[in-house]
Amino acid sequence: MKKIGVLTSGGDAPGMNAAIRSVTRAAIFKGLKVVGIQRGYQGLIEGDMEEMNLSSVGDIIHRGGTILRSARSKEFMTEKGFQKALDVLKIFGVDGLVVIGGDGSFRGAKKLSENDFPTIGIPGTIDNDLGYTDYTIGFDTAVNTVVSAIGNLRDTSSSHGRANIVEVMGRHCGDIALYAGLAGGAENIIIPEMDFNMDEICKKLISGRNRGKLHSIIIVAEGVGKPYDIADEIQERTDIETRVTIMGHLQRGGTPTAQDRVLASRLGSKSVELLIEGEKGRVVGIRENRIIDQEIEEALSVEKEIDKDMYELTKILSI
Ligand code: ATP
Repeated sequence: MKKIGVLTSGGDAPGMNAAIRSVTRAAIFKGLKVVGIQRGYQGLIEGDMEEMNLSSVGDIIHRGGTILRSARSKEFMTEKGFQKALDVLKIFGVDGLVVIGGDGSFRGAKKLSENDFPTIGIPGTIDNDLGYTDYTIGFDTAVNTVVSAIGNLRDTSSSHGRANIVEVMGRHCGDIALYAGLAGGAENIIIPEMDFNMDEICKKLISGRNRGKLHSIIIVAEGVGKPYDIADEIQERTDIETRVTIMGHLQRGGTPTAQDRVLASRLGSKSVELLIEGEKGRVVGIRENRIIDQEIEEALSVEKEIDKDMYELTKILSI
């Protein structure tokens, strides 16, 4: 292993830059050369890459987004595009690759490894939807962004006695809603993994109002859908005025939290270690605060489960 490549793929996530920095510096420390590949697998196919040095990754640890930019590439999923990517890696003399992204990006990494090109995946996605790792890079920052927004909404809602319905990201995974809801003291959390009962929600809002509560926050994960319908129904049944806020892409940006930077730094250097040891087709992650690595297919087959105890706790603490 003399030269490795690094790319970011799929949806971007705060902390990806810290991971790129870690991969680059850990590799240079070990005497390897590093190329930064632009725009994920699409840039790889196009040979859009250049050599990185220590200062290429200077002053980026605190920046959201990704200096390598990200993309989704349909071409890479065709046989022709995939072969082109393998040819480009050969032409540029790259011996191993680190892919920072979500499950789709990992499938690409797996295919490269199956074709004898050593590739390691780093989980970079705000959704925290990968079951094999406790946390993914970007999740903590996204949660903090939502918590901060909840704080702002509380101020204005208190003035008007409104209930706020806040839609956060998470198509299949309610982790952002759950963590942000718990940290932000939300009255109700609606996530795709758990059934919800509109009677209960309305009852809680009414008893809160009768107790003199001036505001309430209802977090809805994107996968549940229809935040406006939920708001209308609440307003109709409780007579409490509602407002909907869709957090959307605000959750994807912002300066990464210390937690995400630390995680990204640990995972980046681990992925370089694995390549040097001759490993391929593995992903890195964190479990019980230990950095782990696992074969890609095995990792992807671990079902992501919501923490039911934490969900119950949010109910207890918001009575
Ligand atoms: P996010 O969690 O943010 O959606 P992701 O990595 O899952 O990130 P995808 O769009 O699913 O995002 O995948 C990123 C890219 O990985 C795709 O555009 C494609 O180029 C490649 N990819 C996805 N699935 C496969 C596959 N089965 N085989 C080869 N490459 C794939």
